[in-house]
Amino acid sequence: MGERIFTAEGLIIRTRILGEADRIVTLLTREEGKFEAVARGARKTKSKLAAGVDIFTHGRFTFHRGRTWPIITGFDSIERFNWFRDDPDLYPYGLYLAELTDRFNSGEESCPELFQLLLDGWKLFGGNIDRALLCRAFELKMANCGGYSPQLQCCTVCGCDKSPSFSPRQGGLVCSGCSGADSVKITAGALALARHLIETPLEQVSKLRAGPEQKKELAGLTASFFAYHLELGELKTRRLLPE
Ligand SMILES: [Zn+2]
Repeated sequence: MGERIFTAEGLIIRTRILGEADRIVTLLTREEGKFEAVARGARKTKSKLAAGVDIFTHGRFTFHRGRTWPIITGFDSIERFNWFRDDPDLYPYGLYLAELTDRFNSGEESCPELFQLLLDGWKLFGGNIDRALLCRAFELKMANCGGYSPQLQCCTVCGCDKSPSFSPRQGGLVCSGCSGADSVKITAGALALARHLIETPLEQVSKLRAGPEQKKELAGLTASFFAYHLELGELKTRRLLPE
């Protein structure tokens, strides 16, 4: 980030208002990581930026380096994920993926894998897909991107593979002998599902099927894992999801 003018392919993951007519957007970009930028006049209806520079937008942006924030001076839309806007049931999922990505990324360095993951996740919600499974796959892959993937092969303490529980504190499976106060039993079905979601490319999640009990179990497991291991606390938007 040296020159006064620079361009980047970005996804808008958060917005807030600034003054009378401007908007500050948080972008996750393929090339420059995560940062905030100002969209001048974005809240005026006649503005060129008004139509495009908003959450759930994928585009190529040109920036002028300002004193506080980079200022968006050009914008070419690549794709708008309108299904999040058009379908009130889908809207919280789009926000959840954005919030998780935002909280996961300190913004200090670019992570093209994270960018691609969010891009793929937002796209897939536009098709016929099990929403809960897509969220779980997204969470597990995001953890993997950050080097925090839960250890799901054997006991994280002693390495044995007997009667596993899941321990957020230990960052994965623990056997009955090594389990502590935070450990919860994990069924074979939920464990197989979690392993499968980690290995399966995101776009193939639509081919997977799982029962409501397994999905519920896995949702609890990833929530406790994130809350403890990544110190993310409670994600506001996760509470808006139906499951
Ligand atoms: Zn053990």
